[in-house]
Amino acid sequence: MITSKSSKAAWIAAFFDGEGCVYIRNNPTLRKHTMYRLTVSNTEPILAATYASFLYDLGVETVTYCRERQSPKHKPITVVDVRKAEAIVRFARLIPLQSELKRNKLSELVAWINRDRFETWNSRKDQMLNLWSAGHSARCIGRQLGLKAGSHTMVGRVLSGWGIEVMPYGRARVQCRCSIS
Ligand SMILES: [Zn+2]
Repeated sequence: MITSKSSKAAWIAAFFDGEGCVYIRNNPTLRKHTMYRLTVSNTEPILAATYASFLYDLGVETVTYCRERQSPKHKPITVVDVRKAEAIVRFARLIPLQSELKRNKLSELVAWINRDRFETWNSRKDQMLNLWSAGHSARCIGRQLGLKAGSHTMVGRVLSGWGIEVMPYGRARVQCRCSIS
């Protein structure tokens, strides 16, 4: 019985090392059409379900579907995808892949996702830097930008990307005027 988060992460890593694929399709001329996902395919539904449920336990959202095959002699294939950018970044952080090839491709994908992000965030750069200079915390800036709760980590990462020294959680600006009121 696998119960701890680290053994679930290790199980997922071993399964993905064997059955997984980091899928990236880049078309530089059609940036909106960039597609990516982490996908595993398996003929054993129980293995696919275990993979999906362990990922769920680690906070990584998945999509599961079944692919019928041409020949009735072949078992249908269960496919489990990690599609959302946030989920892929989390997967990369938590799952200790051994396959160097897959690990490198995943790093490449995470870099691509973050690059996309930074371009979107750039339109808010002046506003965010002003808020930071005025002494607001990353959490407060996230709230003032109308982002959902928990976005402060991303706000911190974005500010760091602009050369601001944001201390890690715990030593960060935990509160500012606004959070108290
Ligand atoms: Zn504030």
